[in-house]
Amino acid sequence: MPDTAILHQPPSVKTEHFDVLIVGAGISGVGGAYHLTQQRPGTSFVVLEAQDYFGGTWWTHKYPGIRSDSDLHTFGYRFKPWRSAPIATAGEILKYMGEVIEENDLARHIRYHHKVRSASWDSQAALWTIEATRTDTNEDMVFTAGFLWMCQGYYNHTQPYTPQWPDMDRFKGTIIHPQTWPEDLDYTGKRVVVIGSGATAATVVPAMAPTAAHVTMLQRSPTFFRTGRNAIALAEELRTLSVPEEWVHEIVRRKILYDQSVFTSRCVNEPDTVKAELLGAVRAELGPDYDIDTHFTPSYRPWRQRIAFVPDADLFKGIAGGKASVVTDHIDRFVENGILLRSGQVLEADIIVTATGFNLNVLGDVAFTIDGKPLVFADSVTYRGMMFTGIPNMVWVFGYFRASWTLRADLVADFVCRLLGHMDKKGAHQVQVALRPEDAAMKLLPWIDDQNFNPGYLMRGMHLLPKRGEKPEWQHNQDYWSEKDAFPAIDLDDAAFVYR
Ligand SMILES: Cc1cc2nc3c(=O)[nH]c(=O)nc-3n(C[C@H](O)[C@H](O)[C@H](O)COP(=O)(O)OP(=O)(O)OC[C@H]3O[C@@H](n4cnc5c(N)ncnc54)[C@H](O)[C@@H]3O)c2cc1C
Repeated sequence: MPDTAILHQPPSVKTEHFDVLIVGAGISGVGGAYHLTQQRPGTSFVVLEAQDYFGGTWWTHKYPGIRSDSDLHTFGYRFKPWRSAPIATAGEILKYMGEVIEENDLARHIRYHHKVRSASWDSQAALWTIEATRTDTNEDMVFTAGFLWMCQGYYNHTQPYTPQWPDMDRFKGTIIHPQTWPEDLDYTGKRVVVIGSGATAATVVPAMAPTAAHVTMLQRSPTFFRTGRNAIALAEELRTLSVPEEWVHEIVRRKILYDQSVFTSRCVNEPDTVKAELLGAVRAELGPDYDIDTHFTPSYRPWRQRIAFVPDADLFKGIAGGKASVVTDHIDRFVENGILLRSGQVLEADIIVTATGFNLNVLGDVAFTIDGKPLVFADSVTYRGMMFTGIPNMVWVFGYFRASWTLRADLVADFVCRLLGHMDKKGAHQVQVALRPEDAAMKLLPWIDDQNFNPGYLMRGMHLLPKRGEKPEWQHNQDYWSEKDAFPAIDLDDAAFVYR
């Protein structure tokens, strides 16, 4: 394939060719770019990013206090030490990613303002044709690539999820979703109601409380939180001993991952004890008279939904200090001056923040066709949550719910580089996964077991996602601790991989 070829486009549209095309310059896409340069130095590649900057999630979200809820030793890449407090602001994460880009000369591979619209696979040519639109100039762009690496994340970056409540238009104040935060919003002295109680609400409430008149977190049902100091004692101790940062990073990663695996199995084996500990920590912050049962005691067992970490107990300090409060009730409808609850109470507000989550976005809203046929993604079966039956030469990155996303982004990157090397060795131009004869009777199930994990955006979008099988290789098992050993051991000559 020549570097520049004209395909079926109007003569004015130049087509550029790359061995690999990465969609998205978030933590996964930038990581993919790094791993390609390190593990496959001769491979040509481009990263197409719809936004005007790298960072993905950490660039999209600009609400007050925006920060990670997992620690940056594991949310950071395994190859670049994290040197600051474990829970980091979006600004700190962007700085870290910027350093990765600069130190590894990755900027020349990234094209901003490139929104990928379609991807068409041609088995004859063993080639993807990718159409993109420049979001700044409206220009159409066409690329071809041998391999597609989908790092587009899991939610729509421009259209957040806001439920429609009755009479929303009657409310005279301002309604804002945290994903589309107006940077000039002045909330000094304002009464704010934040709808939701996930990680975003738990961040926004304490961040706004000092400036606002009062912030109320309105939740339908309570959520589990963990709280503690935003510091890792082991990291501090190792630094006191002048242990090199590379070592600190690796040791602290291992410690965190070990602690998390213990915590996860405790949530399964002794959920009541874990629940009592989590609630005890909240009670210690809010005092014996606070109604923990109503506002902080979920009905589900710990870990069925992601447990947000509240660094330095800031949410609870806001509540204890009287600038923030929690109301657990259902919305009846919006009224001119706030929200009428089912209990009959009116929550008066100048600003309502709808921290109500995302719209799941599988495959970045890209229209896929395989040999001229539109792809029905939900009809495919996933190989370890990264490849899919019927879709050749494509891997996507879908991280973990309960461990840091980047742990899996690094593992998938190793897999992609190894797979590309294997194809080179075999002289193959196409690889796809296919159910083997021994998989014929395998039961096909929804993407995720909703008894195990059931956040709203996944429940709303499950019908769009591929199926999983009963066997470990045909599912995204959400378990870093088994995948860290299983991924490097994947036999690329297994009959599940079909090469041409
Ligand atoms: C507020 C918030 C906090 C979070 N905190 C944590 C945390 O602490 N720990 C954790 O593990 N996870 C966290 N997550 C989950 C988080 O999204 C992932 O961990 C991680 O950032 C995802 O990285 P990504 O690069 O895969 O995707 P994203 O960050 O979603 O980036 C995808 C990029 O792809 C681009 N893109 C999408 N479609 C197209 C297209 N068609 N064409 C071109 N470009 C496209 C987008 O513009 C975006 O820049 C958080 C999520 C949110 C929303």
